[in-house]
Amino acid sequence: MMETGMGSNAALITRLSEAHPSLKRGMVWCRHCKRGPVRVNSADCLQTGWPKCCGYTMTIDSPEEQKAMETEGD
Ligand SMILES: [Zn+2]
Repeated sequence: MMETGMGSNAALITRLSEAHPSLKRGMVWCRHCKRGPVRVNSADCLQTGWPKCCGYTMTIDSPEEQKAMETEGD
């Protein structure tokens, strides 16, 4: 865990959500029923939790990106 001390957590979260392209995009998908994209507020989700579908947390990786990651290891 990274300690941020007494600084504002909200500011850090906003910065994080804007630094990562997938977070900035603000869209999530369900890996199980393939629902999505669902628009979300990444900064809010980082603080309160990501939406769930099929009992699992939805992913910020688009179906294309998930595919790319699956084939990467082979
Ligand atoms: Zn689902």
